[in-house]
Amino acid sequence: MTTLHQHDPEVEIQQALHELRGKLSGSLIEPQDPLYDEARAVWNGMVDIRPRAIARAGAVSDIDVVLDAVRRSGMALAVRGGGHNIAGHGTVEGGLVLDLGPLRGVNVDARNRLVSVQPGATLADVDRATAAHSLAVPLGVISGTGVAGLTLGGGVGWLTRSYGLSLDNLDSVDVVTASGEHVHASEQENSELFWGLRGGGGNFGVASSFTFRARPLPVAPLGGNLFYRQEHWRNALVAFASWTRDLPEEMNPIISFLVLPPAFGMGDEPWMVIGLAWVAEDHQAGLELIEQLRIAAPPDEQEVGPTSWLDWQSAMDAVFPKGSRGYWKNVSFSRLDEEVADVLLGFVSEVTWQGTGIDIHHLEGAFGRVPEESTAFPNRSARYWLNVYGYWRDPAEDERLTAFARKAYALMQPFSEHGEYVNFLGAELGQQEPDAARQAYGPDKYQRLMALKDRYDPHNLFRLNHNIPPTPV
Ligand code: FAD
Repeated sequence: MTTLHQHDPEVEIQQALHELRGKLSGSLIEPQDPLYDEARAVWNGMVDIRPRAIARAGAVSDIDVVLDAVRRSGMALAVRGGGHNIAGHGTVEGGLVLDLGPLRGVNVDARNRLVSVQPGATLADVDRATAAHSLAVPLGVISGTGVAGLTLGGGVGWLTRSYGLSLDNLDSVDVVTASGEHVHASEQENSELFWGLRGGGGNFGVASSFTFRARPLPVAPLGGNLFYRQEHWRNALVAFASWTRDLPEEMNPIISFLVLPPAFGMGDEPWMVIGLAWVAEDHQAGLELIEQLRIAAPPDEQEVGPTSWLDWQSAMDAVFPKGSRGYWKNVSFSRLDEEVADVLLGFVSEVTWQGTGIDIHHLEGAFGRVPEESTAFPNRSARYWLNVYGYWRDPAEDERLTAFARKAYALMQPFSEHGEYVNFLGAELGQQEPDAARQAYGPDKYQRLMALKDRYDPHNLFRLNHNIPPTPV
């Protein structure tokens, strides 16, 4: 009997969960718990997955406790920060979720411009803490997103041209590896792991702390939105392409095609919006640049002026509530000429309110100056990155809007450059997309990431991610 029980996986799982209940300083939430449905939910409402239990961390030491339970029981593990992952990797059917969401501490060392961030912090947590010192860490554009997942994959937002991706601003990361080892990774220490953590997602361990180099923030950055009706899109696209040639890197533009929220009172037609963040004290220079674009492509509506950084960073939050459904695809490209504009115009007008939207990030600047080989992020030479995103509510729309994302992606393929951004990459429900990571990173970086995986996670404990599988033994 005893021997049988020792090898019964179910008995080992029950034993591990029993021990977890006693050892966690946070809480273990199981299906019978009234909090279970809330605790299992991630941002993407299409991800309706029932884990065996959710371990909500109460202290960083809970990472060790959970990894130990997983190693001994063989339970599948999902690691969750802000829960915004589109592919639903922040949860796992029948497995154990390590939810780091409660660990949201941010410490700003203003004198040295270093910011240390716990793994459950959201963008809002960091922005609030740093703005108080007139500093900022380059992050994304929706404030409830988790710093952890965002940074390990990349991190594009309103400071990307000025200061690079979130991961370009990492000074170091503390990681607990699959074997339970605590490793400090930086340019100086464990530099190969540091290379892989900057783009390779959650493949190599649980990040227990991130230290960022913060950047100076102007007293009031200049923010603006130029709104275009459909009949002006072609001209605006062509004007934008020539305006972005040699654009000073204090200017950070993102084009969005979307139906604006009803509160804007701008009807239910799709708009092209050129969002602009000028990150410098000298507003006059920014205004003059924006004026050049306005002359080449006069907007139908506009708002330009000094803004509070915290307001700017949360301006679109209400559009993307938790529980929205989404399947996302992305394409990097450099041409934005008449031919590409024609292709874009063939599908961008199909965006709908609480449906889909399309963003085009203009890159280059500090992002493009980072040498291709210095991080695992897949492509530094693309001038633009297009993201087709979903934020619909009605499950009956799943098939149609998922197909739209795939269509947009397919239409842009003739112009796409190498590499895909893993954080803007969905997974079709119930389907594995086995080559997604290889395609995202490209063959050379994929090989280098596999070598790291062999070293730090040879049994693929961390597989709920755009997975880099270890070399089969
Ligand atoms: P989670 O689902 O919690 O985690 C994602 C994955 O990261 C996990 O599955 C795990 O593999 C890994 N992970 C998380 N925490 C850890 C940890 N501590 N250690 C190791 N691995 C970990 N991206 C941008 O670049 N810019 C944007 O402006 C932007 N806006 C977004 C807006 C919305 C509404 C949404 C839904 C997503 C947005 N994204 C953006 C994409 C975002 O970067 C990814 O979804 C990212 O995975 C979110 O991280 P998270 O911690 O919230 O997610």
